Amino acid sequence: MNTDALKKRKLKTFFVRTYGCQMNELDSELMVGALEKRGLTRVREETEADLLLFNTCSIRDLAERKVMGKIGQLGRSKKNRPIIGVTGCMANAKKERIFRKLPHVDFVLGTNNISDLNSVLDEVQETGRQTLKVDTTFEENINYFDAVRDDPIKAYVSIIRGCDKYCTYCVVPYTRGKEVSRPPHEIEEECIRLAASGYKEITLLGQNVNSYGKDQPQWNELFHDLLYRLDKIDGIERIRFMTSHPCDITIELMEAIRDLPSLCEFVHFPIQAGSSRILRKMNRRYTLESYLEKVELLRKLVPSVALGTDIIVGFPTETEEEFQMTYDIFKQIRYSVAFLFSYSARKGTPAYRWKDDIPEEVKKERLHRLMELNQEINNELMQDLIGTELEVLVDRPRGDETQLKGRTRCWRKVIFSCDDSLIGTLQKVKVTGFSHQTLLGELLPSPSLAMA
Ligand code: SF4
Repeated sequence: MNTDALKKRKLKTFFVRTYGCQMNELDSELMVGALEKRGLTRVREETEADLLLFNTCSIRDLAERKVMGKIGQLGRSKKNRPIIGVTGCMANAKKERIFRKLPHVDFVLGTNNISDLNSVLDEVQETGRQTLKVDTTFEENINYFDAVRDDPIKAYVSIIRGCDKYCTYCVVPYTRGKEVSRPPHEIEEECIRLAASGYKEITLLGQNVNSYGKDQPQWNELFHDLLYRLDKIDGIERIRFMTSHPCDITIELMEAIRDLPSLCEFVHFPIQAGSSRILRKMNRRYTLESYLEKVELLRKLVPSVALGTDIIVGFPTETEEEFQMTYDIFKQIRYSVAFLFSYSARKGTPAYRWKDDIPEEVKKERLHRLMELNQEINNELMQDLIGTELEVLVDRPRGDETQLKGRTRCWRKVIFSCDDSLIGTLQKVKVTGFSHQTLLGELLPSPSLAMA
């Protein structure tokens, strides 16, 4: 679109597409809030929008290629096209290179500039020029209370942004910046407001939530202290957190999971690889032995805990024996949730300089073996649950049917028949079977454990 056409364009509607992690989802909710305050209406079809926002992810090559391809297609329709903005990690990683590759993009807004969205839009409309706003330091003045959430029962709450761990394969410390914790009283206030609006579950978000408070020693409040503070809030039935770094998982956190009624017994405990040599090369800061010790202690303190993990196969120099160690550890720990990936080099990371020496077909084969094992273990874990009675937070109808969906405390999805009036309540469901990754159940005729 030429400059004058852009200037004349009156914005009425917008569409947001979110890629990647929960932090991006929350950032999208904040941007939706800002745009609605500006008077724009959100639409569900991109063809109906005057403004398209792509909130992107850089964690894997595939994620980037997908979004570049998607925006590239939009460039073909030249007449009356909408204003196009790229936000999220790709904005920080590629900056003005995005304009070179996708000349029809109108603005690029970094992860530290969420609250600049409306002023950047003003600039684009006033000048008709491509605009870039990507700061490297974290903006402190985000108004989280402006987030507009789709889900009326479960909410994401940001507690810390950025990451100081510098795993050698990961772009996050470069795209999201250093760790900055959010003041505890602000988090508490947001959770109190969420509870008053009917929210039952909060998920505390951060690239590494376990680091919470370490950058602000004067607060004298670490992650487990924050959990004790939030557990006291009336109306919040469940607290989850995402994501953790194993080296920062403390005994105090494990005791909090054991002792706090609202804190769910699910811990994402990403091992990444089963060989201490590969872990060292990844700069993960723990050995296989120290990881296993923590898992053992956690399971001793909280026997019902379910564990999740991330694993990368085919990291540079990974031998067949080292992959086998990952496979064996997976089998030993029996994770209930696993995000499995084959290594892809990310520009700007230390590992990018190393030879990506594991052939793609070997990576594929290792990934396939691990996926099969994951499926096998999951089937066994779900089979073991048949006949048990689980607490489920009922959250939404399953498509068009009379069945409702919910999650157990350990993050298992369950579907069962009951009426909509139970949405937002905790119910007991008896597990009768499973299909793929989902448990099937029947509602027990007990009274609601906590009415909305
Ligand atoms: S802990 Fe490692 S993998 Fe996780 S965000 Fe930080 S650098 Fe990336």
